[in-house]
Amino acid sequence: MLYSRCVFSTDLVSVLEDFNRARGLNRQPLRHQLAAHNVHTAKKQRSSMSKGRPDNEQPETESEWRRELSGEEYRVLRESGTEPAGTSDLLHVDEDGVFECAGCGTDLFHTDQKYVSGTGWPSFWDAIADEAVITQREGLLDRRIEVTCSGCRGHLGHVFNDGPDPTGQRYCINGVALSFTAVDAERESQE
Ligand SMILES: [Zn+2]
Repeated sequence: MLYSRCVFSTDLVSVLEDFNRARGLNRQPLRHQLAAHNVHTAKKQRSSMSKGRPDNEQPETESEWRRELSGEEYRVLRESGTEPAGTSDLLHVDEDGVFECAGCGTDLFHTDQKYVSGTGWPSFWDAIADEAVITQREGLLDRRIEVTCSGCRGHLGHVFNDGPDPTGQRYCINGVALSFTAVDAERESQE
């Protein structure tokens, strides 16, 4: 996996360490822990199935994508839809791990880059690597910048310039377009 972009200044590392210590002391409500666990277990199977799938094994037609994805995944990933705010279980996930594309398994974001934006959609201040996502203006009249997966060109969400340090960016991503794999689970599956 690509962690090489996560280069932090010493100050930022100490801030993050303080934050993580504080987070450890103030454990999340059990409801959130269970939600994270359920997401983790439910998504793990599918992501291990699709992860790293070569381009030539991806669906080629929209009817194949329809069979591959759930109705909501198809609406977001293939039709640029938006999930209702506050509905994604991934909003509550903060354990160490990687958020992958629900369509093709490409690694897109890391928990280290996730933050609580209060918007109701999973939010990140950066992608896991420059090449993981493609950003482009959505249309001539729409000033929003669309974020798509570089692996399957699936629609993920948008990026705005009102995010936190160190990038100032807010990747506002539909949770339904993502799968989450905890780092521990990934180690287990490799053993
Ligand atoms: Zn993808």
